[in-house]
Amino acid sequence: MSTEDGRPDGAVRTGVSHRRVLVVDDNAFVRISIRNILLDAGADYVEEARDGDEALAKVSGDLPFDLIFCDLQMPGRDGIETLRGLAGFDTQACIVLMSGEDRNILAAAGRLAKSHGLRILGNVTKPIPAEAVREFLAAANAVVHAPRKRPGGTTRISDDDIRRGLAEREFYVDFQPEVGIADGRIWGSEALVRWRHPEHGLVSPMSFIGVAEQSDTIDLLTDFVLGKALEAQTLWRTQGQDIHVAINISAHSMVNLDMPDHLARIVTMLGGSPAAVTLEVTESCLVDDLSAFLDIATRLRLKGFRLAIDDFGTGFATLEQLSRLPVSELKIDREFVAGAPDNERTRAILEASLQLARSLSLTTICEGVETQAEWNLAADLGADCIQGFYIAKPMAAGELVGWFNAWQMT
Ligand code: C2E
Ligand code: CA
Ligand code: CA
Repeated sequence: MSTEDGRPDGAVRTGVSHRRVLVVDDNAFVRISIRNILLDAGADYVEEARDGDEALAKVSGDLPFDLIFCDLQMPGRDGIETLRGLAGFDTQACIVLMSGEDRNILAAAGRLAKSHGLRILGNVTKPIPAEAVREFLAAANAVVHAPRKRPGGTTRISDDDIRRGLAEREFYVDFQPEVGIADGRIWGSEALVRWRHPEHGLVSPMSFIGVAEQSDTIDLLTDFVLGKALEAQTLWRTQGQDIHVAINISAHSMVNLDMPDHLARIVTMLGGSPAAVTLEVTESCLVDDLSAFLDIATRLRLKGFRLAIDDFGTGFATLEQLSRLPVSELKIDREFVAGAPDNERTRAILEASLQLARSLSLTTICEGVETQAEWNLAADLGADCIQGFYIAKPMAAGELVGWFNAWQMT
């Protein structure tokens, strides 16, 4: 059954704004009370879902939601699984996580959701104050109605668009230096893909990597970045520098058993050496399928590539898993570096991660260093290398050697 204007039952329309909200919670009382607050605060359209399956069915409908309140503890598909499903729909909705559990669990779920490319507005512990619901609605409204960079309104990027962009040479690669803490020498550089879109301007990798990962387009992007990285190394060599390069490998590619041979073939074909290439993979690969990861990782190492665990601290790798892996580096996520000098908890995670890496004889790189204080702390805690805006932003291959020469003189 549906209402007069064709909307499904349970959907209510008031006011003049155009905010569509979905409330996902197995507790009817929680759903109804949030819905009432939202409608009072001027939400345009509120739907409810009793569990993750119902939520995903609604999100897959034609009209997108602007805001989703999602409970973490639900029978059946829990909140975390629901978030994973939402990421698959490439939703642009702002998401608020709700839980009766403590703040650390909410924060961890928030990090996980962000790593899936979801737009997390915040999290809130139950019972949820009416004021918080109103504030989230206002914040979502500001995001949804903020002027978009591109004309036409929709921010959706499609797989076809990425393939077209690759064929039209709209993608390029920048390199961000990583320097040794002890001597300030260049340790290597990370290749970061960029897309200059004819309509949308510069599109962040966060907006398109997730889309590419839904198909094998991600492998085309990896090949492209690897090719550009090897081209850059050749250029740097002619400029008198052998510079190591790191490329990001999607968790989705770490199940592809042909990958080690394929990457090695590209490196050989382009006259490079696997020993000068680090492949960065995130902890989520380990959690998804440890045996496939071990198979692929071991063969990559046999072919001479270095392997790094990227965004360390945001996933759930166990000490036992890490100790069994043939990895050479840990890159500690910028979340545990930024602000560590002033935040006890963040600092404790940074310190523990560095100790763990040392006990496993892994090289450590602290990402996202933005201040002298963060540099000093990383040095005091024994990190090997640093990467971040405090040292340099990502730059074109042709600028790196000039930057390095100037850096060494300071
Ligand atoms: P990531 O692997 O963690 O890469 C580091 C990101 O942090 C880069 O963002 C870099 O510009 C940014 N960054 C570096 N230093 C600082 C700092 O001091 N402060 C702050 N706030 N940010 C800093 P970028 O280029 O936007 O890339 C975002 C993510 O997109 C990367 O995170 C990576 O996960 C993904 N990505 C980028 N290029 C590729 C690629 O070629 N393949 C794949 N699979 N993923 C890629
Ligand atoms: Ca990386
Ligand atoms: Ca990282």
